[in-house]
Amino acid sequence: MTHAELMPGQKIQYLVFTDMDGTLLDHHTYSHAPATETLKQLKQHKIPVIPNTSKTFEEMVELRKEIGLTGPFIVENGAAIYIPHGFFKTKPANTQWLNNHWVRQFTSKKSHWLSLLKRIEKDFENQFTYFSKMTTKQICDVTGLSEKEAKRASNRQFGEPVLWLGDEQEKQRFLNAITSIGARPLIGGRFLHVSGECDKGAAMNWLVKEFSRQFPNLHCHSIALGDGQNDAAMLEAANIAVRVTSPVNPPPTLKKTKNVYTSELHGPEGWAQTIKQILTNTL
Ligand SMILES: [Mg+2]
Repeated sequence: MTHAELMPGQKIQYLVFTDMDGTLLDHHTYSHAPATETLKQLKQHKIPVIPNTSKTFEEMVELRKEIGLTGPFIVENGAAIYIPHGFFKTKPANTQWLNNHWVRQFTSKKSHWLSLLKRIEKDFENQFTYFSKMTTKQICDVTGLSEKEAKRASNRQFGEPVLWLGDEQEKQRFLNAITSIGARPLIGGRFLHVSGECDKGAAMNWLVKEFSRQFPNLHCHSIALGDGQNDAAMLEAANIAVRVTSPVNPPPTLKKTKNVYTSELHGPEGWAQTIKQILTNTL
């Protein structure tokens, strides 16, 4: 960002968008402790840290408390943005009041995706199951989560994780079938996530735009951090992209090369190290 791009009277406002698992949270321990000092620094500079995650609303309510974040957050891979009352001066555009937040929804509710699964269930008998049909114990066994965590994780609002039990060939037939009736399935590590067309990048762009609309004297500049391929759309769309290195997977591949950082350290250590570097370079 050069000051030549600023309109008269405008100031730069940095917004940090961050993935959770493997990025701000350690891949193995889920700890954010190595980033605590840097999070404090960002708070002092009035730079919001906005989680952009595949996690659910219920999981994020707990996690935000632990980390000490109070601003907006994006759930279920860009499916919806939750904005606390009072974060903006006026009601954010096209939002509804839900779960004590202003919510901008980018895809249909879970009930819609469940109805699509029911429609094709008989064509794939005993070849798949999904969270709504599984017991908490079964979800714990598949995910390794505790009972409490499994309950929060299974309470998805905008999509449904499908556990595939059949072979690869049938899986492809299933993906084609569910796509042909309007879903955009996302292939995850353990599950096939059945939801609509949304991604972390489009959700981030919406919030940046709304921020600029609410504060016309601020010129928003986004910094996005992520460790996985599902972060690619967000990293591509951000002004500054940070690929946080992971102990288990290669960094996400990006088309752009300008303003792209790759952390040396893993997870929250890499998160903190790179944010500090960017702050030093830009503030
Ligand atoms: Mg991740």
